[in-house]
Amino acid sequence: MEGKGIVFVISAPSGAGKTTLIREILRRISGLSYSISYTTRPPRPGEVDGKDYHFVTEEEFMEMAREGKFVEWARVHGALYGTPKENLYPEPGTDVLLDIDPQGAKQVKELRPDAVLIFIVPPSMDELERRLRERKKDSEEDIRRRLSNARKELDQVGLYDYIVVNDELENALQYLSSIILAERCKTERVLKEGIRWRV
Ligand code: ADP
Ligand code: 5GP
Repeated sequence: MEGKGIVFVISAPSGAGKTTLIREILRRISGLSYSISYTTRPPRPGEVDGKDYHFVTEEEFMEMAREGKFVEWARVHGALYGTPKENLYPEPGTDVLLDIDPQGAKQVKELRPDAVLIFIVPPSMDELERRLRERKKDSEEDIRRRLSNARKELDQVGLYDYIVVNDELENALQYLSSIILAERCKTERVLKEGIRWRV
C-alpha cells in the first residue's frame, strides 16, 4: 500500500449527477485517472466500450470473478459490476477515481483503509427523480428501481469521509475538487510519498 497513489471512491444514488461531476473533475484535475469497471449492464446511448465501462456478458463476468480478476464486485440495480484488481494500486503520482456503489466502497475501504470515500447527494428526492427522467436513458421500470435503491444507498452515508450536495453543478465541482486537492496535501501522505509537485 505504501508509496501508491490515492484511491478516491465516489458513490451516489443513480441520477444524483455523479457521472457529470466525474467527467468534469477528470478534465480539471491532473494526475487523476478513472477506474473503468466491468459490467453486464447494456450500454446506454452514447456510452463507449472500454471508456465508460467494459461491457461483458454475465458468463464472461462470472468467469473473471472466478479467476480473481476483481478486487470487488457487486450486483447493483440488477446488473453485475466489478473493479479490476490492478486499479486499486495506482503508481505514486497517479491517483485513481472509482465510481462504485456503497457495497463496493465498503470492500475497498477494507483493502485500502487510506482510500478517501466521497458520497454525492441530490438536493432532494424530487430533484433526483426529475434528473433520472430528464436523462431519458433508463426505462420506467429501471427508474422505479433506482429510486427505491436510492433510499437504501442514502442510509450508507456514515461509511463515507465526505458528503457533497450536487445542487448547483459548479458549487459541487468546487467542493469535490477541494476535497481531492486537500487530501493530496495531507502531511501524512506527503511525508510517506516524499515531496512531489503537481502543477
Ligand atoms: P449519475 O451518474 O449519478 O447517475 P448523471 O451524471 O447521469 O447521474 O446525471 C443525471 C442527470 O442529471 C443528467 O441529465 C445530468 O445532466 C443532470 N444533472 C447532473 N448534475 C446536475 C445539477 N447539478 N443540476 C441539474 N441537473 C444535473
Ligand atoms: P450505472 O448503471 O448508472 O452506470 O451504475 C449503477 C451503479 O453501479 C452506480 O452506483 C455505480 O457507482 C455502480 N458501479 C459502477 N461500477 C461499479 C463497480 O465496479 N463496482 C461496484 N460495486 N459498483 C459499481
